[in-house]
Amino acid sequence: SPAYPPFIWHNGAIKPWAEATVHVMAHALHYGSSVFEGIRCYDTPSGPAIFRLTDHMKRLRLSAKVYDIAMPYTVEQLKAASREVIRANGLRNAYLRPIAFRGLGGFGLGADCPTEVAVAAWEWGPYLGAGVLETGIDACVSSWQRPAPNTIPTGAKAGGNYLSGQLIAREARRLGFGEGIALTVDGLLSEGAGENLFLVLDGRLHTPPVRAGILPGITRDTLITLARSDGIEVIECGLPRETLYFADEVFLCGTAAEITPVRAVDGRPVGEGRPGPLTRRLQALFFGLFDGRSEDRWGWLEPA
Ligand code: PMP
Repeated sequence: SPAYPPFIWHNGAIKPWAEATVHVMAHALHYGSSVFEGIRCYDTPSGPAIFRLTDHMKRLRLSAKVYDIAMPYTVEQLKAASREVIRANGLRNAYLRPIAFRGLGGFGLGADCPTEVAVAAWEWGPYLGAGVLETGIDACVSSWQRPAPNTIPTGAKAGGNYLSGQLIAREARRLGFGEGIALTVDGLLSEGAGENLFLVLDGRLHTPPVRAGILPGITRDTLITLARSDGIEVIECGLPRETLYFADEVFLCGTAAEITPVRAVDGRPVGEGRPGPLTRRLQALFFGLFDGRSEDRWGWLEPA
C-alpha cells in the first residue's frame, strides 16, 4: 500500500491523515456527488510553487456550481488550505487533491447534504508510469465513448465522471496499453481517460474542441498558450479517428500526466515511433517553467 503523508486538511483544519474519515452513508459515496481538482506543486529555483492554483480553485467552485453543491470556502480560503497542507507535510514536489462532496445528511438524490471539503497532498511521480515522459506510451482507442452533450457534463470535474474514466483506463490496461483514448458519440476524438489529447498534423498542433466532450484542461490551456507564444499554430477542431494514425506526433496532457508522448496508437507507430520535435519543444517550455529555463510571463507559479 502507498505511504500516506502525515497530515491532511479537512473541513477547515489540518488533522492527522487517519482521522479524515467519512460515513459509509455519505451521499457522494452512493451517487458520485463530489467535485475535485488535481494540482501540482513544483520545487522551483525560487521555492515550491503551486501551478495555476487560482485557476484550479476557480474550476473547483464552478464544478460545484454545476451540481448545486454548496461550497463553504472561497478561492482564497481553498488556496490557503493548499499551502497549509503542503507546509504541514514538509512537501516541495507534490500533487494536491482538493475535493468537495455531499456528506451525510439525506438519502434522496435531491437531498441537501452538508458539504465536506478536504485537501490532500502527497508526492506523486509521472501518472502514466516511470520514464514515460521520455519514452512515451502505447495507447488504444477505447471501445467506450465519452458522455454525450447534455448528459453528464464533462466540463465539470465531478467524481461521477470518473466512472467513464475508469472504464476507459481499465480496458486499456487489461489489453496491455498505457492509456485509452475515447471518442465522442459522433465518433470524433475526445480525450484520454484523465488527459487531454494533442496531435501534430502538418507541423501544426491540433486538439479536440470543448464541444467534443472533454474536460477543458488547465494543462491544455497552458500548452496552447505556450505553443502560440512560441510561434506554433494551434487548431481546435473536430478530428476523425484516423487522424491519430495520420499524425506525426501525438501526446496526452494533464496535471497528473504532464506531457506524455504517445508512440503508437492501436499498434500503429506514431511518426517515427518516438517523441517528436514539437512534443519535445513543448515539454521543454512546460518543464522549463519549473526549473527556470522558461520565463513565467503569465503569473502561473503561485508560491506555496
Ligand atoms: N481530461 C480529464 C478527463 C481529466 O481528468 C483531466 C485531469 N484533470 C484532464 C483532462 C486534464 O486536465 P488538467 O490539465 O486541468 O489537469
